[in-house]
Amino acid sequence: MYIYADNAATTKTSPAAIEAMTRCMEDFYGNPSSLHTVGQKAAEVLQKAREDVAEILGADFNEIYFTSGGSEADNQAIRSAATFGARKGKKHLISTTIEHHAVLHTLNKLEKEGFEVTLLPVGKDGIVDPKDLEAAIREDTALVTIMYANNEIGTLQPIDEIAEICAAKKVIFHTDAVQAVGHVPINVHEQKIDMLSLSAHKFNGPRGIGVLYAKRGVPLFNLIEGGAQERGRRAGTENLPAIVGMVTALKDAVTDMEAKEAKTAALRDRLIAGLSKVPHSVLNGDPVKRLPGNVNFCFEGIEGESLLLLLDEKGIAASSGSACTSGSLDPSHVLLAIGLPHEVAHGSLRLSINEDFTEDDIDYIVKAVPEVVNYLRDISPMWEDLEKGEKEHVI
Ligand SMILES: *Cc1c(COP(=O)(O)O)cnc(C)c1O
Repeated sequence: MYIYADNAATTKTSPAAIEAMTRCMEDFYGNPSSLHTVGQKAAEVLQKAREDVAEILGADFNEIYFTSGGSEADNQAIRSAATFGARKGKKHLISTTIEHHAVLHTLNKLEKEGFEVTLLPVGKDGIVDPKDLEAAIREDTALVTIMYANNEIGTLQPIDEIAEICAAKKVIFHTDAVQAVGHVPINVHEQKIDMLSLSAHKFNGPRGIGVLYAKRGVPLFNLIEGGAQERGRRAGTENLPAIVGMVTALKDAVTDMEAKEAKTAALRDRLIAGLSKVPHSVLNGDPVKRLPGNVNFCFEGIEGESLLLLLDEKGIAASSGSACTSGSLDPSHVLLAIGLPHEVAHGSLRLSINEDFTEDDIDYIVKAVPEVVNYLRDISPMWEDLEKGEKEHVI
């Protein structure tokens, strides 16, 4: 038995996407910029892909820019608003404390370049209060960038309310929707979203391909200079096989989306109910306003890394909020932002599932996790202190 429960990190490329990519490489090998027939055939495939993505997102085809993935789309969106904002004297950017590093690190860099950044806090539920946003917007605010769904704790932000506020105040609104696209319904025009990032490998498409949607009239800065591809906004010969694979996966993801969402959410709730029985554990993020496939728990007295390695031995691939960066073990900025103490944030477990899971898979996880948690607690000096009452339980 091997259970892959790390779909928020990346997904398995679907057989349909692989087949479409292979066929594209065989049949449409021309450069879409070439004037001959082979090139023009490729250009037609590219145009059709652009129209398909636009239709699924509720956008126009000329608002779709293909990028190398979510990170690039985030970088381009933020750099664009900053660059064109600065020309009008607007050098204030608003985001949240729980964004992906593609957003946070870009903002950090802009701060060093003279921009002012406000990071809105989130509540214990991992959700931004739109009133905080309203209060933070100033005359010189060039951009609000708030993620659609968080990659660690799965919380869904009140995007419609946020977009309304930005529209009323005439501030550009970008959302990193990498975790949300293909999993929850999105319509960029109806939802008044000005810019949106997505990435194919989070919905069973290939790595290294994504989209930046930018509403007509929202100017884009060129991250990559060169040829005139992507309406002159992103140079480089288009990665047509990856684009075709992405569109194939996206079409599959949005087919019967509501039924798949409901099935996945029911499995998620079964998993949450099972893991909630572990003593001194806590579910991170809002129980309802979260991605259908996301479960994130902290277990007091253990290290997330040890938990992951032992679960892997039991045939479960999961992830932890804590990342080991350059030797120092920093707990996740997201878990700290929702108010967890450092020592608890270290013991986190993220399980990201999908509609292909069975109840048996869930029950296997529900049985395996407490076994591993108990084992780790039994050998933990920290847990001994807690049990002897020398330290107080936090959760
Ligand atoms: C995965 C992810 C990204 C990065 O996307 P890549 O295509 O891997 O560059 C950005 N934001 C969020 C929320 C993600 O989950």
